[in-house]
Amino acid sequence: MVKAEGVHKSYGAAHILRGIDLEVRNGEVFCLVGPSGSGKSTFLRCINHLERIDAGRLSVDGHLVGYRQKGDKLYELKDSEVALQRRDIGMVFQRFNLFPHMTALGNVMEAPIQVKGESKAVARERAERLLDRVGLRDKTGNYPSQLSGGQQQRVAIARALAMEPKLMLFDEPTSALDPELVGDVLDVMRDLAESGMTMVVVTHEMGFAREVGDSLVFMDGGVVVESGNPRDVLGNPQHDRTKAFLSKVL
Ligand code: ATP
Ligand code: MG
Repeated sequence: MVKAEGVHKSYGAAHILRGIDLEVRNGEVFCLVGPSGSGKSTFLRCINHLERIDAGRLSVDGHLVGYRQKGDKLYELKDSEVALQRRDIGMVFQRFNLFPHMTALGNVMEAPIQVKGESKAVARERAERLLDRVGLRDKTGNYPSQLSGGQQQRVAIARALAMEPKLMLFDEPTSALDPELVGDVLDVMRDLAESGMTMVVVTHEMGFAREVGDSLVFMDGGVVVESGNPRDVLGNPQHDRTKAFLSKVL
């Protein structure tokens, strides 16, 4: 679903991604862990067209991100083509970024109506179903300010799912939450994983990675240091940098 080969990204003189190679298979939960500043968010942002890579190849569902290849030449996609690629990718951030002036239901209905031109009735029916699925059936009329952080994050997940994405990216979705609210969000993610969704999850929740993850990559300094089955990498890390990191978070 996602393939990265020698992906590089700099911000000015700061060389952040230094040759990322990895592959996310269809239907798997792919966990990305690593110290602060190692480039995890930057990599997710490259997958989702929020940043452009400087070198290497990055593809989602067999399509190069932001480019089309003809022969051995690359052509930049037009904005409308980028928009079509982005439709298939849902992203959930550490901060929920809900529209504050819309109810939970309104937040989940918005993109399908605005982006796909869907009818209100169809969008509403799906939004109600998704909010029910994330355990918020009785909160559909609440505004974000009337919801807990965990409830807001579940609305954000429902909102991303409303576009019926092929791939979901999660960037530390629980790290801004009070500890007692983390479980409900992880339960929703676990349920989504069981439904077969392909998920790339940046997280410090090693319990989640171990139980739900199919693959885990440890990143440091903009490269993949170690990867494999989460149980193996977390239980028996091979590299000193992985060991040092895990000793701090486990
Ligand atoms: P964290 O665990 O703290 O979220 P991360 O692994 O997600 O860290 P990134 O957010 O990808 O790290 O940042 C990697 C590096 O890139 C950091 O040193 C950061 O300061 C730098 N960086 C990120 N975004 C930008 C930007 N837009 N312009 C300049 N530098 C940036
Ligand atoms: Mg980050």
